[in-house]
Amino acid sequence: MDEMRKEVLYSRAEIQKKVKEIASRISHDYAGRELIIIGILKGAFIFMADLIRELSIPCMIDFVRAASYGAGQETSGKVVMTKDIETSIKGKDILIVEDIVDTGLTLAYLVGWLKERNPRSLKVCAFLDKRKRRKVDFEADYVGFTMDDGFVVGYGLDFNEQSRYLPEVYLVKK
Ligand code: 5GP
Repeated sequence: MDEMRKEVLYSRAEIQKKVKEIASRISHDYAGRELIIIGILKGAFIFMADLIRELSIPCMIDFVRAASYGAGQETSGKVVMTKDIETSIKGKDILIVEDIVDTGLTLAYLVGWLKERNPRSLKVCAFLDKRKRRKVDFEADYVGFTMDDGFVVGYGLDFNEQSRYLPEVYLVKK
């Protein structure tokens, strides 16, 4: 699979700069508050690891895993949570960290699912945003790069579980 045709979309340096920018905004917005960051497995793990190490405020972390069943690279709309958080979020400030927002279905579902537990606040940080592909009205609070259509791999993102380890983000060529 790693022989697939692909080109660098965002370099290590561009990613590092962007992560620092987002971390600085989050650190400013949550100063003096008790922040719990919830990463969506598996794709967000590298972005989340980089992001929390650039924060200048303390945070706690947890993870969820969302599966959406559909054909090929498309989300079906039916989202199933296959791993829950292990912390109580009632009355806490929550920031969900996701790799990429595409149709918006996964995050729209997850936000509703977590809000039922009555956090004090709940915001979303997405590393990439394919804004034009939305099927539901969903807006992330912090976005790294807004990109056009196209399938990307690397920096945690996979194609059939391959390529997550690549430090850059690549656009897969058809
Ligand atoms: P949504 O529910 O917003 O349509 O889908 C979000 C999920 O679809 C992401 O968490 C990611 O797993 C997957 N996804 C969407 N676009 C891409 C892409 O370009 N590359 C990869 N590797 N995954 C994607």
